[in-house]
Amino acid sequence: MTTRPRKQFAQHWLRSEKVLWQIIKAASLSKHDRVLEIGPGTGILTRFLLPEAQAVVAVEIDRDLCQMLAKQLGKVDNFLLLQGDFLSLELDAHLTAFPAFQNFNKVVANIPYNITGPIIEKLLGTITSPARQTFDAIVLLVQKEVGERLYAQPGSKAYGALSVRVQYLASCELICNVPSECFYPAPKVDSAVVRLRSRSFEPSALDAKRLDTLVKLGFAEKRKMLRNNLKGIIDRDRLTNLLEQLNISPEARAEELSVAQWVALANHSDALLLPNCSS
Ligand code: SAH
Repeated sequence: MTTRPRKQFAQHWLRSEKVLWQIIKAASLSKHDRVLEIGPGTGILTRFLLPEAQAVVAVEIDRDLCQMLAKQLGKVDNFLLLQGDFLSLELDAHLTAFPAFQNFNKVVANIPYNITGPIIEKLLGTITSPARQTFDAIVLLVQKEVGERLYAQPGSKAYGALSVRVQYLASCELICNVPSECFYPAPKVDSAVVRLRSRSFEPSALDAKRLDTLVKLGFAEKRKMLRNNLKGIIDRDRLTNLLEQLNISPEARAEELSVAQWVALANHSDALLLPNCSS
């Protein structure tokens, strides 16, 4: 059976034991943890997860790899392998027959980079529709630049709409950078291990749709001042007053506002919205 990496499924096998241990450590696994792994590939990370966790559910799209993994790990009691596309798979429905694998509380995975955004969205949901399930830890290997956007802080170059959207739903931190030589075949990009933890942002947005719209429009043209990006939906003078009230410079750009400031802006802008604002 071939395990030759397939480009079509963004297959890059992790081959650094040091990075594998860093991932395991970042997940702080205990025998109470049920873990979801997306894209186990040849099972290198899976083999590190199984002795540390209560149960591991892995979802792999590649049939050949699934056959191989089933042969090698199929008899391990705390392992369940599902074949399919993680993005379209109805996990809950598949797990109804396997109570010991339901309610996983952690996700640990070296994911296919081409679907990083959709994977994170499936796990966390969106500002307007957060996922019902929450996770104690989501430890992911991602493309380095995507990782930078996930954990970016206000004022940094990587901080953008994605940072605000994800950080509203989860805390995000960098665990370590991973050079491309740690994989076979080496991808064209460097990687990073990041850790996300689901959270309910406090204070929360009173109107999630409005927060979502403000973030979308606010970052629409990153080099422009926020008040210019928002002029279509909020009266400019009144926005200037509101920004002052919230201790934000009236000249601020979107990238300078913390997640808490975005929420405050959304929660205070109610009366300022122009009639044509869709939210
Ligand atoms: N975790 C392994 C493999 C990482 S490569 C390792 O660290 O070595 C990414 C893996 O995700 C591959 O095995 C690929 O087949 C799988 N994959 C790609 N798209 C997928 C999808 N939509 N759903 C589930 N698995 C997917």
